[in-house]
Amino acid sequence: MVEQCTKTDDAQLSAVASGAAQSNAEALPPQAPVDHGDWLRVTLANIDDAVITIDTAGRITSMNAMAEVLTAWSSGDALGKPLTEVFQIVDERTRQPVESRALGLLRKGIVGFAQDSLLVARDGSERTIEDSAAPIRDEAGKELGAILVFRDISDRKQAEADAARLAAIVESSDDAIISKTLDGTIRTWNAAAERMFGYTADEAVGKSITLIIPAERLAEEHMILDKIRRGERVEHFETVRMTKDGSPIDLSLGISPIRNNRGEIVGASKIARDITDRKRAEEAQRFLADVGDVLAGSLDSRTTLRTVASLCVPRLADWCAVDMLEAGHVLRRVAVAHTDPEKVRWAHEIHRRYPPDPQSGRGVFKVLRTGHADLHAEISDEQLTRAARDPGELQILRELGMTSVMLVPLRARGQTLGVISLISAESRRHFGPADLALAEEVARRAGLAADNARLYGELVEADRRKDDFIALLAHELRNPLAPMRNGLQVMRLTMTDTGPPAQARNMMERQLGHMVRLIDDLLDISRVSRNKMELRRSRVLLADLVNSAVETARPGIEEAGHQLTISLPPKPVILDGDLTRLAQVFSNLLTNSAKYTEPGGHIWLDAERKGNEIVISVRDSGIGIPAESLPRIFDMFSQVDRTMERSTGGLGIGLALVKGLVEMHGGTVTAKSEGQGKGSTFTVKLPVPDDLPNPGASHGADEIRPTVGIKNRILIVDDNQDSALSLAMMLKLMGSELRVVHDGFEAVRVAEEFRPDVILMDVGMPRLNGLDATRRIREQDWGKAITIIALTGWGQDQDKARSQEAGCDAHLVKPVNPDDLEKLLNELMKKDKRD
Ligand code: ADP
Repeated sequence: MVEQCTKTDDAQLSAVASGAAQSNAEALPPQAPVDHGDWLRVTLANIDDAVITIDTAGRITSMNAMAEVLTAWSSGDALGKPLTEVFQIVDERTRQPVESRALGLLRKGIVGFAQDSLLVARDGSERTIEDSAAPIRDEAGKELGAILVFRDISDRKQAEADAARLAAIVESSDDAIISKTLDGTIRTWNAAAERMFGYTADEAVGKSITLIIPAERLAEEHMILDKIRRGERVEHFETVRMTKDGSPIDLSLGISPIRNNRGEIVGASKIARDITDRKRAEEAQRFLADVGDVLAGSLDSRTTLRTVASLCVPRLADWCAVDMLEAGHVLRRVAVAHTDPEKVRWAHEIHRRYPPDPQSGRGVFKVLRTGHADLHAEISDEQLTRAARDPGELQILRELGMTSVMLVPLRARGQTLGVISLISAESRRHFGPADLALAEEVARRAGLAADNARLYGELVEADRRKDDFIALLAHELRNPLAPMRNGLQVMRLTMTDTGPPAQARNMMERQLGHMVRLIDDLLDISRVSRNKMELRRSRVLLADLVNSAVETARPGIEEAGHQLTISLPPKPVILDGDLTRLAQVFSNLLTNSAKYTEPGGHIWLDAERKGNEIVISVRDSGIGIPAESLPRIFDMFSQVDRTMERSTGGLGIGLALVKGLVEMHGGTVTAKSEGQGKGSTFTVKLPVPDDLPNPGASHGADEIRPTVGIKNRILIVDDNQDSALSLAMMLKLMGSELRVVHDGFEAVRVAEEFRPDVILMDVGMPRLNGLDATRRIREQDWGKAITIIALTGWGQDQDKARSQEAGCDAHLVKPVNPDDLEKLLNELMKKDKRD
């Protein structure tokens, strides 16, 4: 090819040097001497640029080796051919042949500068080239043709495209991608970095990376750069950076060293991912878990809501207030929370002075009406001005400095029960949809919990009312029993012991006794469930307790012809407890065994000492208890649904009372049964204190022998005529001299003239009650020595204390058991004698 060059070639080539050099200094030596034609040819043959020369007619006059390669034409084939045939350029998109723009320009007399074109070679291969052209003139300036210089720039193009793609990826990334030098100077800053940190690339590039590092975290940067210098990467490094407006932003960083082409570390590239959302989601989960704990642990709605409000501060807002609808329409503020208690007081004061206006239809009232949350991401002064009712309120609203407000409904069972208001102020935070979603979730859970707590409260209240009602009922039922008992006593004292009337009387006495027991149980259980049962604790001998229980249960056991076997520990066991109540426990258990065992059965009472406990079991060979009834057997009013029990006439409270009394003594009771017909075992465990001194000789009941026939002057005061009269009849038969009056004033008057030894004083009476009457009598000289016994349906310790304080010597619970009254009168008389 080189050899084929003609003299004209030489001339052309020399001219090439002066023209094409402008566009391609590298391709052509700057000063190619005309007389070094060979040298030039050789050069052209070896350079990386393709060179084609044409004559003025556009025919190829020479082409170098690279031109042959790029066009896939051999010089031999190409020489003399029109350039357009050998040098085919097409439009990249339309693929239409186009004229080399360089040549086009040349034709217009302008030197063609480098342009990119797509060259289609003879063999069909395509490559992007950069071409330029220059005219060839002889020394006289006559145009001889032109020289076309071009080079394959496909690789460069590819590299540029790759770089552009990479740049596009970097730019479009959601992660901030930043590069910096080893001294921390920012070199590049992508669009995400601009969005994330608020600085434009112009503002950031050239600055130190400390621009975005909070002062307290500067040490991190040294640590990171140290690692980078050592060629290490830093991955998933979670930290906090700062935006242009100073707000913190949670990030996860990945940092890698940047090396130059010699492999030296010259900087670092940093990819920062905003993990604020993730952090917030984690925090929200933690927060909800805390709220959940609070809600699960409380059954009081006010306390629950207060705790929720204080949990919301400052995690969710600077202020939190909870308002609840009461009685369906009154809005009551149940909680206000702020980290500063002083501010809470201030808020209460503002609320008092400016309560939310129901007429406004805005704020909490809007949420109550619609049941939908309200988010005010931004609070403007204009809004405050509109909301304020007077300049005073406006000033307060401004002082509050609210930046954002969320109002979320507390809902349950389709109803809006109240509103949680969350306010951002000093933190300057603006609530967004994520905050609102979290607040709504908190409110949803709190609403349900508050509703549950309310329902629970109602249940407790209903239960309390039931207990109160039972107590009142039992008390009221006792009143009519008193005259009946007295009447029966009168009959006993006046009638013969044989014949149908006596049998009828005995039957009535038994039934009355049964009724009194039922009512006593009712009263007792209502005391236990209202926590009003009082124990009179003392040292109690187990044997005494068992004897007393057996004594009470004996009639039932004997009546059914059961055999009772008792086994007690050889050594005496002393308990600390209330003898009467503990005896009641075992008499109930023994009575049940007697009731629920077919006649002629067997009952065992075994007591065994086990360490610091005494284990007492009452076992029977009776009908047993079905397994499914066992778990509820100690519940109040629980009865196994069996026809047999229907006839026993129990109320299902005996075992509840047993459990209540045992637990009051620090013990436990359990029931066991192998099933229907297999008998039952009730096991009571009671603590045995080990430091109790031996009980002294108990002054047993036998010390007091009731004397029949009390010759006393007795004044009976009772507004219940039947009760007063029957008592009078009974006492008269016992030999007393009697007066009966029916109110307190009468009592005082008659007492003065009658001067009784004893006054039986009913407490609850209209006009002047028994206690006030007692006080008046005690004020008189003649009244000081009278024995006054209060008679009442109320037998609580506090009732007794009240009557004692009024001046009564003793207190008897109606219906008065004649034996008890007789015993008491004897006792008081004996005491009087001693005095
Ligand atoms: P009441 O005996 O008044 O029904 P309790 O509370 O004493 O009430 O007993 C509750 C229920 O437990 C009884 O109705 C009975 O079904 C069952 N029960 C109690 N003790 C026994 C027992 N020893 N054997 C079988 N069933 C019993």
